[in-house]
Amino acid sequence: MAIWAQDFYEIQEALEENDPLQQRVLELVIEEPIHGKAIEGDGRTDSLRDILNQFFEGQISLEEAISKVSSELPRHESPHSHSNRVFADGWDERLLRTQASRFYNQAVLELLSERGDNSCFVPHSSQEDRDSPCTIQLAGKEADIDILLNRLNRTYGEADYHDEVKIPNHPHCTHTVVPTSES
Ligand SMILES: [Zn+2]
Repeated sequence: MAIWAQDFYEIQEALEENDPLQQRVLELVIEEPIHGKAIEGDGRTDSLRDILNQFFEGQISLEEAISKVSSELPRHESPHSHSNRVFADGWDERLLRTQASRFYNQAVLELLSERGDNSCFVPHSSQEDRDSPCTIQLAGKEADIDILLNRLNRTYGEADYHDEVKIPNHPHCTHTVVPTSES
């Protein structure tokens, strides 16, 4: 069984087979900051953490997780509820997918780095957006783990929105990071 997801849609399957990775993902979901106007306001970040936890534990599907975002973080309860920019169509899906990919890939990069790997591999995804920088610059190639982890943390941990290419590079990014070796 695959213990590393070759793309976004294999994340739940991989976590089911990879306990250390699942453990790390769940820890990050609890501990790491999450940024974004749609989750500002009472209890919204905790609700998102709870939904991500259920998704990564395999209790709910991707579709269920997305619909829970719109039901448990309702727009009308947000301090930005008037904003059509914050709540543009599909905001629930973008929010869920972005953070699901961020936490999964952050956990992989951390574990690979801790075991001493310097480089990782970014497989092509059948659903990748051909014109995205991640497809053009990263997919099908090896990448430096420290660089990808640093770029991921700056964007998603520190809300420093630089434009250096990273995983995930956009809300519908289907790329994941895998080890360069077989194990
Ligand atoms: Zn991508």
